[in-house]
Amino acid sequence: MNSLLQRGIGMTSQRTRERLVQRLSEDGLSNPRVLDVILRTPRHLFVDEALAHRAYEDTALPIGHNQTISQPYMVGRMTELLLSAGPLDKVLEIGTGCGYQTAVLAQLVERVFTVERIQALQDRAKERLQQLNIRNVVYRWADGWTGWNALAPYNGILVTAAASEVPQALLDQLAPGGRMVIPVGDEHGEQRLYLIEHTAQGFVRHELDPVRFVPLLTGALQ
Ligand code: SAH
Repeated sequence: MNSLLQRGIGMTSQRTRERLVQRLSEDGLSNPRVLDVILRTPRHLFVDEALAHRAYEDTALPIGHNQTISQPYMVGRMTELLLSAGPLDKVLEIGTGCGYQTAVLAQLVERVFTVERIQALQDRAKERLQQLNIRNVVYRWADGWTGWNALAPYNGILVTAAASEVPQALLDQLAPGGRMVIPVGDEHGEQRLYLIEHTAQGFVRHELDPVRFVPLLTGALQ
């Protein structure tokens, strides 16, 4: 067992993780595959050691660079929405962050293409996922407003930062029959989670939960 995995032993018991999953199901998450992946994914390895004892609380935590690891409920909720029409083979994720949502997704779909604008965050995420032996992820350091056109279309698109409006490039890269889950709204005003389906009649938008995400910014940073 490598040292990254060893760090988890004793610090976060199985019971702590079971309690988190129990709470998520009481709060309305219901896809057993998603809950099982959350149960098995060591979230404490995605945050600083100093915060590891809080990793199984249902809360967002800082990951540096003014960014946060998403709240487990929101990771589960977005993943459930994305998967609710059936399995997906190609998923584009915008906002790798610490890689926790990426790790959850990668265990449920065939391939994840993940884009992050802060190179240092993505480098660390990549390292963690490799150590966890998660290999079906392709990484790109870039501004996600333009998606990843070279590898489009995608059956699923998941955005983990709030966009002021749905980026046109992402709609263009969503395959017919595909689904996008994206928080939309102002940094300080109201944000809503949207589910967008690409149907034969066009894009159908469902406006869902009020949410709070860091903003989808522009430009790439080293
Ligand atoms: N899914 C992540 C959440 C990270 S927070 C996790 O579980 O940790 C949102 C992330 O989106 C941040 O890492 C931020 O740098 C990134 N982001 C913001 N704007 C972006 C953009 N235009 N393109 C790509 N990534 C962006």
